[in-house]
Amino acid sequence: MHTPRNSRHRPSGPWPVLALYVLFVVAPLVIAAFGAARERGFVTELAIGAGLVALAMLLLQFISSGRHERISGGAGIDRTMRFHQLSAWVLFALVILHPLLLVLPSSLDDLLNAPGQVPARLAMMAGAPFLRSGVLALVLLVVLVALAALRTRISLRYEIWRASHLVLALVVVAASLHHALAAGQYSSEGFLKAWWVLLGIGALASTGYAHVLKPVLQARAAWRVKSNQADGEGVRELVLESVKGEGLKYAAGQFIWVGFGRLPFPLGDHPYSLASSPREGTDLRLLIKARGDFSAAAGAIAPGTPVYVDGPHGDFFIEGRDADAIALIAGGIGIAPVSGILRDLAQAGDRRPVALLYGVRNLERMSGRAVITSAARALDLQTEFVLEEPPPDWQGGSGAITPEAVLRTLRGQDPRRCLCLLCGPTGMMLAAEQTLLRAGVPAANIVYEQFDYA
Ligand SMILES: Cc1cc2nc3c(=O)[nH]c(=O)nc-3n(C[C@H](O)[C@H](O)[C@H](O)COP(=O)(O)OP(=O)(O)OC[C@H]3O[C@@H](n4cnc5c(N)ncnc54)[C@H](O)[C@@H]3O)c2cc1C
Repeated sequence: MHTPRNSRHRPSGPWPVLALYVLFVVAPLVIAAFGAARERGFVTELAIGAGLVALAMLLLQFISSGRHERISGGAGIDRTMRFHQLSAWVLFALVILHPLLLVLPSSLDDLLNAPGQVPARLAMMAGAPFLRSGVLALVLLVVLVALAALRTRISLRYEIWRASHLVLALVVVAASLHHALAAGQYSSEGFLKAWWVLLGIGALASTGYAHVLKPVLQARAAWRVKSNQADGEGVRELVLESVKGEGLKYAAGQFIWVGFGRLPFPLGDHPYSLASSPREGTDLRLLIKARGDFSAAAGAIAPGTPVYVDGPHGDFFIEGRDADAIALIAGGIGIAPVSGILRDLAQAGDRRPVALLYGVRNLERMSGRAVITSAARALDLQTEFVLEEPPPDWQGGSGAITPEAVLRTLRGQDPRRCLCLLCGPTGMMLAAEQTLLRAGVPAANIVYEQFDYA
């Protein structure tokens, strides 16, 4: 039986973080409820409640931004990013509801008799000097959400979007806090005021840590490129060495944020999976597929170039997960973390049955061949390759990965005791996940890494 080598990497699941989140979101309502009793209608209280919850959720967006390992490591980076996106929509809806509910007439009759008073009251609100910061927050939030939702459709460069997302978020938070403290019914006094100040400082500290302090610390624990060579068509294998020989504590399969060059520019870094095993030494290995401006330039990165490493992040690893058999399913460059895991299993001399199902466009695009060959010598490894464009004499699978091929990765073992790690295109992972669930693999035993948060 495989024993976890490093309890630091034991995945805690999303529940502890989720419970804390709910606590922080509900806390302002509880504090307000214990505040001085006032005579206001139900709808007004609802409007204020929507505003309080929205503000708490807005501040917590800084914590779920994906740069805090304690959160993304426990809940998983994909879940964390999905949660960040989903809560953005919920808080956006609450922010829109907040003024709408405040201008609603007290009865349905009033609303039906004079429907024009709603827009008139809204216009009055928008023009009121003491509500200016609230209006600014709302308008900028609309811009922020629209840019995030449409960035791929309007072809906004990722780096520009990231920088604008951060700046807009900081201004929205500052304006919202000002609005709550200056014009809020409950927030402008007492304990709730102190609570907002505290949460505001927390959000600012979290951003300062991720974007200022961390890059400075990374610059100290510097890395540099040791070698850069092709590993399959359009894929570069970069080996990074620690300048001080200190290395990085990580579990095979996790990912890091990397930036190349002399200056640590935090908004210019990109996430890459570690294709190495911590058991092999301190060098880190990346497989970078040419995709856009950053990754296409990877081929030209010369040995000796300084590298800034932020990590490890993510929960795509075996350690701390109990299983009798391991199924690895990779599509395209999804082989990167999978090859790190294969190296690690081989180094550990793992005796469990392991299966690798690897789908890729053609033989030329295949990466990590040498790793797979040497892992096959060290492990009880079953391999299956599926090519979209197979050569005429190809003996393996062709086309897309089929449910039958996915089922073969379980190797006839008890599905409840199989751990399945999936990394590749979203469609492939969803289809494979459905097949595995239907076969009886518990959801908790299916771990996946998604390369695109969009
Ligand atoms: C957890 C994780 C692990 C990854 N591991 C690997 C790997 O091992 N090998 C590999 O080749 N690719 C990996 N990727 C994908 C890789 O990060 C993107 O392909 C790369 O950032 C594209 O950048 P670009 O400027 O070359 O392309 P662009 O055309 O500018 O970007 C293409 C898309 O990649 C995403 N992207 C771009 N920049 C960033 C960024 N700074 N942060 C987050 N997403 C970004 C965006 O969705 C964007 O639309 C991984 C992604 C994630 C999220």
